[in-house]
Amino acid sequence: MSKEPKVAYFCMEYGLESDFKIYSGGLGILAGDHLKAAYDQDRDLVAIGMLWKLGYNQQIVKDGKPYKAYPVFKEDYDFLEDTGVKVKVNIRERDVHCKVWKVTKFGNADLYLLDTDVPENYAGDEWITDRLYGGFNEHRIAQEMVLSIGGVKALRALGIEPDVYHFNDSHPVFAGVELLREKMEDQGMWFDHALEEVRKKVVFTTHTPVLAGNEVHTHHLLKYMGAYQHLNVEQMVAIGDAPFSMTAAGLRLARNANSVASLHEQTANEMWSHVDGAAPIVGITNGVHTGTWTDEDVVAAFADGDNDKIWSAHQKAKQALIDLVEERNGVKLDADKLLIGFARRAAPYKRSDLIFSKPEVIEEYLKSGKVQLVFSGKPHPLDDMGRKITANLIAMSKKYPSSVVFLEDYDMTIGAALTRGVDVWLNNPRRPKEASGTSGMKAAMNGVLNLSTLDGWWPEACRHGENGWAISPDGVEAKTAEDFEGSHEEKLAQLDEYDVTNLYDVLLNQVVPTYYDNQDKWIDMMKESHNDTYEQFSAGRMLNDYYKLVYAPENN
Ligand SMILES: *Cc1c(COP(=O)(O)O)cnc(C)c1O
Repeated sequence: MSKEPKVAYFCMEYGLESDFKIYSGGLGILAGDHLKAAYDQDRDLVAIGMLWKLGYNQQIVKDGKPYKAYPVFKEDYDFLEDTGVKVKVNIRERDVHCKVWKVTKFGNADLYLLDTDVPENYAGDEWITDRLYGGFNEHRIAQEMVLSIGGVKALRALGIEPDVYHFNDSHPVFAGVELLREKMEDQGMWFDHALEEVRKKVVFTTHTPVLAGNEVHTHHLLKYMGAYQHLNVEQMVAIGDAPFSMTAAGLRLARNANSVASLHEQTANEMWSHVDGAAPIVGITNGVHTGTWTDEDVVAAFADGDNDKIWSAHQKAKQALIDLVEERNGVKLDADKLLIGFARRAAPYKRSDLIFSKPEVIEEYLKSGKVQLVFSGKPHPLDDMGRKITANLIAMSKKYPSSVVFLEDYDMTIGAALTRGVDVWLNNPRRPKEASGTSGMKAAMNGVLNLSTLDGWWPEACRHGENGWAISPDGVEAKTAEDFEGSHEEKLAQLDEYDVTNLYDVLLNQVVPTYYDNQDKWIDMMKESHNDTYEQFSAGRMLNDYYKLVYAPENN
């Protein structure tokens, strides 16, 4: 048996704990759970990230509209350990100083964070680690260079020699350029040989199948910023095409790549089939850290198997959520009525307000409180469309004040309370745009029943009417925009119509009657939901898959 490889995991954000604001959403939560699972399994894995001074934008709702705010969070972190290590990254022909902190407090594998907010940079470069995803072009590239180049240099300075460099999403791809520079400059290799050597050690995870979510930069700007290092334009084009696609670069720099669900494996392979020399993409479905995301009493009740115990543990979690809602929004929800949760980044394809599409169908349920809804979610800070969707959700909460709630400033605290405390988890993205989705997994483990389009992870788990529901006529027949005729807009409109018809059909003819008239069946479904997901969609299973399928030395 060969020794297990030592892995260095690179990611722009980590969701380890609610108030440690170095995360924005799904990518960070996934990374945080990866580190916790690595710690639980005593793996030889370290991680590289960024110490964001202002974090992601905070969301404040005022007069029915969402606003962004950027309080300073960094000063609250008294658990950061100073490693004493400092590295320099040359950006725009200036040395940027990066301090390296270490974080182990959250039951996570060692995480090293780079920080440019240090006195040496106060003449002009301390802003680089200010806001997570708060800028684009120069700002974003500078951040990616710190993470990537600074990250490799930090590992060297700390005396850590990884066998595998894992780029989680494409922000860290300049680490591949730094590894190439080492081989070419320090070891005198030619580019082709260096690339062959670097590829033996790099693995890459691709996420969003939405094209706009995959970053592209002009070569002019990359060269100006210094991201080329000592490579020339032909070499950089060979890695990432022109303009420079960060995802294509990740696929070419890696020996193994993966997507984050089975359906996403197909989508990603089709989407990137034009990239010659790309690593093969295998599917590794995401998982969530059970210790972080499940309610102990609920899990114990499932282990016991007694229906009354399961119901009362669930109702306790539901009451905790209802109390949180009352404290934050002053609205008293009813614990004996169906409560549906929905929380996601407000992006158009996720269709957060789909359920409100036809008031003539849904309004009577909202007015009577037979259906209660709790929403949360922030748009990307630069996304105006997302801001409009959020404003519409807030408007709905004003229209149906006792049954629709919008919780501002979605974070891990809200995420945990919702995925434990609602009865049903609603998710209705347009297929096949959701890479994986992990909130539904958190919900399912807690016995919260999923009601979702067959996108992301859900096709792998859904047994329609047994452990949750598919938003489709028979639990199978799911459509995409390509199943309809007409212009792009017409196709989307028909898909939305198709999905909302099915959503109402399943919700009003199956979910609502089961909840109110057949509690035994409901609790049986909760058990199935928990049993089908607790192991299968855990971060522990996911990490084992990473070791088997992409980190394993025999794949070298
Ligand atoms: C779980 C979680 C996410 C990820 O949710 P998806 O379902 O993957 O979109 C994002 N943000 C928070 C706060 C979470 O808890």
